[in-house]
Amino acid sequence: MSVTHPDPRIDRVLHTSEDIQAAVRRIGSEITRDYEGRDLALITVLKGGTMFLADLCRAIELPLTVDFMAISSYGPGAEGSVRITKDLDDSIEGRDVLVVEDIIDTGLTLSYLLRVLRQRKPASVSVCTLLDKDARRLADLPIEYRGFSVPDRFLVGYGLDLDGLWRTLPYVATLHDEIWDRP
Ligand code: 5GP
Repeated sequence: MSVTHPDPRIDRVLHTSEDIQAAVRRIGSEITRDYEGRDLALITVLKGGTMFLADLCRAIELPLTVDFMAISSYGPGAEGSVRITKDLDDSIEGRDVLVVEDIIDTGLTLSYLLRVLRQRKPASVSVCTLLDKDARRLADLPIEYRGFSVPDRFLVGYGLDLDGLWRTLPYVATLHDEIWDRP
């Protein structure tokens, strides 16, 4: 659904709060069905994934833990090579890990993260993303749970920021092209 927005910097609302909450409930029931009887550990990357994680973990009707990582990119020319600036607090050995992402774009960051997590001998590692910018994918990733496929535009809201702002919008929106400069 697309609605006009009173903030002139916002171009279009792509997914309303109601759309997002419906997707969260749907994915939450799929995960509840698939992980019954398993040892579920939800992991998200700070800070973008926190809004989705907070809603999703309450839509999963199973015992589970949540843990956080923070990463920073080495910069241009080193795509997909990232440094862990905050590691998980707890071991994931033998556990069923589900990585919860706000958005997957090229997939290079997540691909690196999955390699790191798999070295820690979890029982399984799967991926859940609210938004999938699939047209830009460079890495081949198994994505088990997905909210919405999104166009190749810069998005903000529901965890996604521009210079730290816009994260707290309850919906996902595009900005007018002149507001952001694509590298
Ligand atoms: P990837 O390695 O998949 O190319 O990059 C993933 C990261 O790029 C996401 O976790 C997010 O931080 C950032 N990103 C990708 N697309 C967007 C977007 O449309 N808006 C915002 N705010 N960040 C994005």
